[in-house]
Amino acid sequence: MHANHINGRWVESAHAAPNINPSNLAESLGDYAHADEAQTQDAITAAHSALDDWRCGSVQARVDSLDLIGTELLARRQELGKLLAQEEGKTLPEAIGEVARAGYIFKYFSQEALRPDSRITPSVRQGLTVETLREPVGVVGIITPWNFPIAIPAWKIAPALAFGNTVVFKPAELVPGSAWALAEIISRSGIPPGVFNLVNGRGSAVGAAMTSDLRIDALTFTGSVGTGQKIAQALAGRTTRLQMEMGGKNPLVVTDDASLERAVECAVQGAFYSTGQRCTASSRIIVTRGIHQRFVEAFRAKAESLVVGHALDPDTQIGPVVDESQLEQDLAYIAIGKNEGATLAWGGQRVARATNGLFLQPALFVDCDNSMLICKEEIFGPVAAVIPANDYEHALHIANDTPFGLCAGICTTSLGIAQHFKTHSRAGMVMVNAPTAGVDYHVPFGGAKASSYGSHEQGPAAQEFYTTTKTAYICP
Ligand code: ADP
Repeated sequence: MHANHINGRWVESAHAAPNINPSNLAESLGDYAHADEAQTQDAITAAHSALDDWRCGSVQARVDSLDLIGTELLARRQELGKLLAQEEGKTLPEAIGEVARAGYIFKYFSQEALRPDSRITPSVRQGLTVETLREPVGVVGIITPWNFPIAIPAWKIAPALAFGNTVVFKPAELVPGSAWALAEIISRSGIPPGVFNLVNGRGSAVGAAMTSDLRIDALTFTGSVGTGQKIAQALAGRTTRLQMEMGGKNPLVVTDDASLERAVECAVQGAFYSTGQRCTASSRIIVTRGIHQRFVEAFRAKAESLVVGHALDPDTQIGPVVDESQLEQDLAYIAIGKNEGATLAWGGQRVARATNGLFLQPALFVDCDNSMLICKEEIFGPVAAVIPANDYEHALHIANDTPFGLCAGICTTSLGIAQHFKTHSRAGMVMVNAPTAGVDYHVPFGGAKASSYGSHEQGPAAQEFYTTTKTAYICP
């Protein structure tokens, strides 16, 4: 059994669950302990007790530990990428890239530990100086989803530790392998017992124990809208700092003057790669009249050529869906789309391969209307809906006509249109002639409207969540 890591020790549980490979349901990658409420509380107690020494301890020690973690992740990217591809289903190159990204994130935040945004300001009163200091928030609860099993934990754990917080980390129970491997690396990095704790387990047990514990000072969550709402309700009336990244229904606008080749590339990459299981996926492709027919033909031809298969097969471009319930959800939305009157131009069927996996042919809907359910709700699968628009203004209106606002893309060769879209798109991230999915690790990540709550993550923005400001007045 792969145990949890609590107060510097590996702790087994009464219950463990197999880590099933979605490319081959007959294969388990091992059993992983499911912590219960009591063990979760032990982890919170440990993080609470370790806080004072850690926050006041050597910054150089923090820098060294985070750097060491980053170095090991980068050195083991092939091996850990293989594990990630096996448990989550993304292709091997995507998975290796994700592990490398996690490594770079640790290295980036190892240096950020040296530059908290503290400053000395002259006081308006003579003889005084004012210091504005950044201090750790305290015990940080981290709850992550299954779709980026190592990058999302990295972009929460690294800044939490860098700025002197202690951590209770609950990964998604569907993909415990990458989280366990990361915890094992952290456990050997010189970080003192209790500073970092891993509690894998069910959301209803471990997650709920975290959201009901007053000793958690700040909680960061990435996952579905439904769970986000539950967490917000659980914390209502409390002063726990909360940050949430939730769904998206990201538009990619293609205007008449776009490079057809670039637009198709962005659409295929954004909608179908990683099996569409990204909160930044382009699920609504909004195409203006003059290019619509040519675009749909080229997009369809490209979609038909995509190779769906085992995540470790070098020919595979689209890996399996992560689990049966997600596959059911994808297929249910595909049926809804057909009933709503959208035309299924390609795919949408489960397909068989040499191994018994959850393989789904990417689905391309055309003739869609933004009022359809498949254009309103996040599907989280390889399903693209092409929505025709009269012109750019109309396309922009449709793009913004959603409760979500994580990211938005446009393919155009017009600088004027690109600038206008950048300003008027109501999203936290905007991509011009680039896929909506795929972001850098050293700049802020986050959305507008219902996609995000609280401050943004990553890059310099991370300090806003993981530190609190103290103002000190000094009279010598
Ligand atoms: P996804 O399906 O994308 O992983 P979920 O919202 O279902 O999104 O899950 C995201 C994370 O939230 C997972 O780690 C899950 O176990 C956890 N979770 C689920 N329910 C709760 C809950 N009630 N309280 C806290 N965390 C939860």
